[in-house]
Amino acid sequence: MDKTYLENQMGVKLYTMTEFAEYLGWTQQRLSKIYHSQIKGAKVRTKVPDPVFSGLRLLWTEGQVKQYKKDIRPNYKPEWRKIDGKQVYGRVCRMCTDFKRIEDMSGKNSPYCYTCISRKGGEKRRLLGETTSKFKPRSRVHVRKYNPQGKLQCRTCKIFKDVAEFRAGTSPQLRPDCKDCLNARRRERYAKKGDSNE
Ligand SMILES: [Zn+2]
Ligand SMILES: [Zn+2]
Repeated sequence: MDKTYLENQMGVKLYTMTEFAEYLGWTQQRLSKIYHSQIKGAKVRTKVPDPVFSGLRLLWTEGQVKQYKKDIRPNYKPEWRKIDGKQVYGRVCRMCTDFKRIEDMSGKNSPYCYTCISRKGGEKRRLLGETTSKFKPRSRVHVRKYNPQGKLQCRTCKIFKDVAEFRAGTSPQLRPDCKDCLNARRRERYAKKGDSNE
């Protein structure tokens, strides 16, 4: 049966397994594994809803998909996820429950993302009657480019390195240069300083 035809008949958006997994930010294999072990009678943490159609293709309604996302207890530990075909290293924000890049979190161990924290701060300032104009969130000047492996390119040495190889910069960004380049520059500066003192 045609998905579009069914959607028009039922008047709801339908999700295939792939689309369902995509909505969760999972791989299709991950969802499929849970669903099939559940069918075989295995105990799963959160039961995947029964598909509304289970012919050639499994189909779920938008409501089921959204409810399942709410029901699954999110994993707050940092992990790699595939988003828009790119591997992204990040964590789930406890406030908005969105999966965010690690440097979009408001701190190394903060449970909230930068957007949520600044929104919370804005709310507080508004309640206190403070003007918000000077607290406007900084616009993103540099867009950090990640390669498909989720690595970041250093501005100076142009090498793609692990996120851990970069220092935190102006929140929520990482510094554009890797730790090695920063250290090298610092050494250079100190050497110059020493020369001029002599
Ligand atoms: Zn958030
Ligand atoms: Zn570098």
